[in-house]
Amino acid sequence: MTAMEFVLIAIAIVLVALVAGVSLLVGRGRRTTRLDDDAVSGTTLTRPRPPAAPPETDRPAGATASGQGLAPVEPVSPEAPPAVELPPAEPEPGLAFETPPPSAGRLVRLRSRLARSQSSLGRGLLTVLARERLTEDDWEEVEETLLAADVGVAATTQIVERLRTQSMVLATATPADLRALLVRELTAVLGPDLDRRLGTDRHEGRPGVVLVVGVNGAGKTTTVGKIARVLVGDGKSVVLGAADTFRAAAADQLETWGERVGVLTVRGREGGDPASVAFEAVRTGVEAEVDTVVVDTAGRLHTKSGLMDELGKIKRVVEKQSPVTEVLLVLDATTGQNGIVQARVFTQAVDVTGVVLTKLDGTAKGGIVVSVQRELGIPVKLIGLGEGADDLAPFEPEAFAEGLVGAGD
Ligand code: GDP
Repeated sequence: MTAMEFVLIAIAIVLVALVAGVSLLVGRGRRTTRLDDDAVSGTTLTRPRPPAAPPETDRPAGATASGQGLAPVEPVSPEAPPAVELPPAEPEPGLAFETPPPSAGRLVRLRSRLARSQSSLGRGLLTVLARERLTEDDWEEVEETLLAADVGVAATTQIVERLRTQSMVLATATPADLRALLVRELTAVLGPDLDRRLGTDRHEGRPGVVLVVGVNGAGKTTTVGKIARVLVGDGKSVVLGAADTFRAAAADQLETWGERVGVLTVRGREGGDPASVAFEAVRTGVEAEVDTVVVDTAGRLHTKSGLMDELGKIKRVVEKQSPVTEVLLVLDATTGQNGIVQARVFTQAVDVTGVVLTKLDGTAKGGIVVSVQRELGIPVKLIGLGEGADDLAPFEPEAFAEGLVGAGD
């Protein structure tokens, strides 16, 4: 056998092996890109088969479907040029992608979920304020009610002072007037003028990149899945990055969220380098020209410097591809002040641009929104109001205050 024949046979064997590996993956119907190893030479990627164009209505807007077959996949390296145009995969036979509802108006629909806060904060305040003459004891009760709902000392003082100046009005107010007044005062301490827009849009021809950080158990991975649905519901195309490589379950969970709405998930091997996964997710998003890449990160609260190193590295590596347009910190509303202490560790490690408060449906302390914003100086942009797939809503101060008071439902 000549050297040339030998080389040709070797190439043929490699090609057959590649095709076999890919068909195995496609056969399982995964819409996932896996990094089989860290970002070192020899790494290979397997990608899902580009689909025949799915029905227009089922395809996330903005994504393109090439249907060109598989291109060979480059090893992960910051310099690697875009290899293929990546469309979203088609649904499994017999299944259709879900079309989530748009985000607008979600909070109004979901605000009755604040029932626990409503009964202790809203009803508590309305009962006291409806009394004919308010004594010092009554005002103390108002103060205690606000503090018990985690509104925080400064905002409580502000609300009580403003209500006291309106005691003449209170004395003659109808229940509806009282409600309206309370909604107005609560809205005022919820930062109605803060900019809560999510940085998810494409920027200079590249996808917006959202990093999602927070401690384990806060609801981070669930929130990334819900954000993907919000974005798809709003007509955007999305790639997810499962950079929480320390929990295999987190990547599985994310993949399932993505599959339901036809969104591709990039994941690595368990214990692999989170920054490699984040890098590859963003690279995939750049190639596929999607609107937004959302990256789930590991939530281990180890040492502060370890966290800083890890998040810093992820951000640096990602920004070789596309600027990070939003860093969301996920906080569990039921953890109260403890959650705020943990949050500080993250805000010192990375430049957080927005807070997502989860589990507001499970707490009587809805006032935590006020103290989180005041103590961290960062706007709450999204709130979680349940475990359902679409129970995440853009935060709107007035609708939220109405939810707390129980007005309009
Ligand atoms: P992670 O460890 O931070 O990634 O947390 P997960 O995303 O795995 O969520 C932890 C638990 O919190 C899961 O059981 C979620 O269903 C639950 N969860 C997340 N968000 C909410 C919410 O807004 N309300 C309620 N009631 N549960 C939530």
